[in-house]
Amino acid sequence: MSDYINKIIAYVKAKNSNEPEFHQAVEEVCESLEPVFARHSEYRAAKILERMVEPERIVIFRVPWMDDQGEIHVNRGFRIQMNSAIGPYKGGLRFHPSVTLSILKFLAFEQVFKNSLTTLPMGGGKGGADFDPKGKSDNEVMRFCQAFMSELYRHVGADTDVPAGDIGVGGREIGYLFGQYKKLRNEFTGVLTGKGLNWGGSLIRPEATGYGAVYFASEMLATRGKTLEGKKCLVSGSGNVAQYTVEKVNQLGGKVVTLSDSSGYIYDEEGIDEKKLAFAMELKNVRRGRISEYTEKYKKAVYTPVDPKLDYNPLWNHNAECAFPSATQNEVNGKDAQNLLKNGVYVVAEGANMPTTLDGVKLFLDARILYGPGKAANAGGVATSGLEMSQNSMRLPWPREEVDNRLRQIMKSIHKTCVEMSERFGTPGNYVNGANIAGFLKVANAMLEQGLV
Ligand code: NAP
Repeated sequence: MSDYINKIIAYVKAKNSNEPEFHQAVEEVCESLEPVFARHSEYRAAKILERMVEPERIVIFRVPWMDDQGEIHVNRGFRIQMNSAIGPYKGGLRFHPSVTLSILKFLAFEQVFKNSLTTLPMGGGKGGADFDPKGKSDNEVMRFCQAFMSELYRHVGADTDVPAGDIGVGGREIGYLFGQYKKLRNEFTGVLTGKGLNWGGSLIRPEATGYGAVYFASEMLATRGKTLEGKKCLVSGSGNVAQYTVEKVNQLGGKVVTLSDSSGYIYDEEGIDEKKLAFAMELKNVRRGRISEYTEKYKKAVYTPVDPKLDYNPLWNHNAECAFPSATQNEVNGKDAQNLLKNGVYVVAEGANMPTTLDGVKLFLDARILYGPGKAANAGGVATSGLEMSQNSMRLPWPREEVDNRLRQIMKSIHKTCVEMSERFGTPGNYVNGANIAGFLKVANAMLEQGLV
């Protein structure tokens, strides 16, 4: 790597100590940008990268709320407004006990490049809280969301910053957050995406990330004259992204054999068909149960609990052709990547954000498999959020087919851009470089044009 890139990485690590996830995300992007800086001195002169690794603004706030027993709890809320060069800040909210500044900064940084790739005018942001929705009643979740929005409303708005869902934030939470925003501001605007269909939401938004990841995998397969028909697929997670990944793989003739949550995973050799998926969706979205309960209903499936002593995830150690990591960051480490390659996987489309560690990414790239990194493969979610914003601005909802067609076209376009950029900068087939370079160039040029702000 060049001295310049090494210096930036060292600077980010020194300035943001104790933020390993943020370092990881920056390091991956910086490595990809090496050939860009070799050809374009203007970005270096304007210190574009130095500016991009510094969030435009971070808000950290107290979220006090009361549980059903009358006990008071205090959580920490965050909003990272990373970059607004090409549009209002846009990115999800995550409610999970593991949430830290480092995790949200990595997500916000990734979001800048992802949003740039979508072809839509959206800057990058991310936020959330270290709140654990697991085991909480609907009323507790509502009170938490109201307390969270009681501060966040000052910093967001339809033309300023438009949050959406992420881990632990789905339709229920977006509803409570929107209700509180509306009450405090006395305005009905598209301040959040992922809204209910009766109050400004877009058809296909719940499906979009999963569907988009599968469309992206299909595009990658098409470069080798193949389709998903008959392909065995491993999917991790069992939340929003995982569920609609399974649905679309099934529609395109593939077979999904795994689902997981943070307690363990199920393996169903016969495949998770439409009926079994409906059961899993009811289990996770309505009853809010554990994925282990799948095997109580479908006896031939096998449940394996998480074993903290293992240095790999057995979910990734089954024969298959495709893998869709759709749970969380760093869920595929170097050993998992080796297992995937050994078991015949040659398509990896990341529904989750940064699910593969840097050594895992390197193994996929060296093996020259079809590896679609999250910021390209899972961009369908935020792209459809962008379509929800357009519909809100027009105050006109589009039909399902129209949104789905636009989503499919956007995923095609992202794929094409990644392929072209990876070729233009000398690493054909490397979707990581393609996505990082394309995402960077659009934002960097906008920053140059807008002056030093
Ligand atoms: P979700 O509906 O909350 O589901 C998350 C799933 O991942 C659950 O099955 C959860 O299991 C599991 N999980 C969460 N943290 C975990 C951990 N530390 N270890 C193991 N499993 C864990 O969230 P989602 O919206 O599907 O998001 C999944 C991934 O996709 C995240 O990386 C997110 O950033 C990314 N993503 C989401 C969207 C979107 O539109 N929603 C868009 C782009 C990217 P438990 O039930 O046990 O918690």
